Amino acid sequence: MKTRCGYVAIVGRPNVGKSTLLNRLLSEKISITSKKPQTTRHHLLGIKTTADAQVLYVDTPGMHEKTHRAINRYMNRAARTVLVDVDAIVMVVDRTEWNSDDEMVATAIDSTRCPVFVAVNKVDLLKDKASLLPYLQRIQKRLPDAELVPVSASKGDNLDALEKLVNESLPEGPFLFPDDQITDRSERFLVSEIVREKMMRQLGDELPYSLTIQIERFEDSGKVIHIDATTFVERDGQKAILIGKGGERIKRIGADARADIERMLDRQVMLRLWVKVKSGWSDDDRALKSLGYDDV
Ligand code: GDP
Repeated sequence: MKTRCGYVAIVGRPNVGKSTLLNRLLSEKISITSKKPQTTRHHLLGIKTTADAQVLYVDTPGMHEKTHRAINRYMNRAARTVLVDVDAIVMVVDRTEWNSDDEMVATAIDSTRCPVFVAVNKVDLLKDKASLLPYLQRIQKRLPDAELVPVSASKGDNLDALEKLVNESLPEGPFLFPDDQITDRSERFLVSEIVREKMMRQLGDELPYSLTIQIERFEDSGKVIHIDATTFVERDGQKAILIGKGGERIKRIGADARADIERMLDRQVMLRLWVKVKSGWSDDDRALKSLGYDDV
């Protein structure tokens, strides 16, 4: 099957509904953005994979800022740099008014060459849909190459049409990330990330920089998922810190991590944590591989 994959930026002045739209688009079939900075040109907010397309939603600087002045920062260089390097842009505007902030966004879009879709949002608030027509004509005049799609992000109206257009505009190519089916490998990865996060919470700055976590066992016995994870550190002192007095700290980390993992997998989990000293591992490529580090 022919597949498409590409980066998409959602832009627009504050309060037009960008976050609402993004959340709505990602509410199903979201896969957690993977930690593979070397494989992605952008910081991703989320990935939406359907049968034949994978959309990588890009974080645009300023996108979540609410203050009015944010628009100035929003269209700063960083945001422009992102815009010239995406495969499609969705500009969100309000159903009624086009103001000078929208104009700034449009100006930034003028210097890009990719397909542009204007999501004319909040149409659920319109009593008379026909009243939209003159406004649509005005936008079309300003952005002649853009395709206009009236939507309601909060109600979900017409988002299918928007997604279809966006998907069809993306370049043909293989998916850059695993599809939404959570594979065993990514579950293992997520489990190790959860353990790492709990360690971070417990230790803060004391967390050894070079620790690595290996999932030694990930076994579904039907009722319970058994997970054994070993944390490798470089020195005895680091091991002692992680374990804590009488094992208190590692127990706490394990209990917190287990609760999160059970929530993620929606299953009962038996989690066992070990801490081992593996000195000099970071200098040894083979040791790195054996720890699955090339996977991360
Ligand atoms: P952003 O600043 O562009 O990210 O805008 P938000 O997504 O935070 O939305 C701003 C406000 O508009 C919020 O109060 C949303 O609930 C509301 N909103 C967003 N989309 C719609 C929509 O389709 N219809 C209506 N009626 N309200 C919406």
